[in-house]
Amino acid sequence: MTMKHTNPFALRYRRENGAGRSGAARASIREAYPGLSLSKAQHERFRGLLYIIVALFTSPASAADRTLQIPEHLQQGQLVIGHVAHDAKVEFAGRRVRVGEDGVFVIGLERDAPAQVPLNVRFSNGKVQHLQLKVAKREYHIEHIQGLPQKTVTPDPETAKRIAREREHIVEARKRDDAREDFLKGFVLPVEGARIGGTYGSQRIDNGVPMTPHFGLDMVVPTGTPVHAPADGIVTLAEPDMVLNGGIVLIDHGFGLSSATIHMSKLDVKAGDKVTQGQLIGLAGATGRATGPHVHWAFNWFDVALDPALLPKPAK
Ligand SMILES: [Zn+2]
Repeated sequence: MTMKHTNPFALRYRRENGAGRSGAARASIREAYPGLSLSKAQHERFRGLLYIIVALFTSPASAADRTLQIPEHLQQGQLVIGHVAHDAKVEFAGRRVRVGEDGVFVIGLERDAPAQVPLNVRFSNGKVQHLQLKVAKREYHIEHIQGLPQKTVTPDPETAKRIAREREHIVEARKRDDAREDFLKGFVLPVEGARIGGTYGSQRIDNGVPMTPHFGLDMVVPTGTPVHAPADGIVTLAEPDMVLNGGIVLIDHGFGLSSATIHMSKLDVKAGDKVTQGQLIGLAGATGRATGPHVHWAFNWFDVALDPALLPKPAK
């Protein structure tokens, strides 16, 4: 099985201020010129003229401040990196989203995100843009897994309590919202030469029992294969022996984004460590709920599980 790569760097970015086709674009030009009010037809007719006005009377930097950029093609499970005026307020999925000094912001589209999701932007002059982002629906596999350690599928009460405690640690670690922009450099695979054994979003039937979907990318490699940090970040959790995850390293990449590599046989980092992209963080294994050696790579925007296969790659 090969992994389908979508390189978000290849996506065309729609400049709301320049596209001139949507209500959002008209709104953003009104943003730059609060007194200006145009019908759609007028807008189309005067689009060229507006460009010239922008070019003549505002510096490129201040024009850029008023724009909102978001990738044009979005799909379920995708990390979305957008740009907006640095002093704008962005709201998505009931959350006030961090906007960087450079105007960058990130949102995550969950596995079952609806066809349209609202994104609200409030500019410093009080104007508000209400966008409806279009999200493409995906088809997910159904995967039957046999031979899992039974205690990880139907745990006894004692083990169930431990699983709940451990899950709480992970939930807490994923709440972190740092201003670091480690995600901007793109992401590399945590292991090299892996076969993809399980994809994001698949409906899992474990030992005959329907489970929650598979929120990660399974990379099949022999035990002892080096595992690397997919991007710069800070280790927020490094536990050698969790019931379900076995050896886990959780790395925070800023803005609520985090990577977890699990089922590891050895950890070379501890909580609080700063790591750089490609740095050795431990070795692959088959610890926790696993039928064989592999690295499960989970990627999150806070509590929203995203598809690691859709992450941007480092620029060449
Ligand atoms: Zn997995």
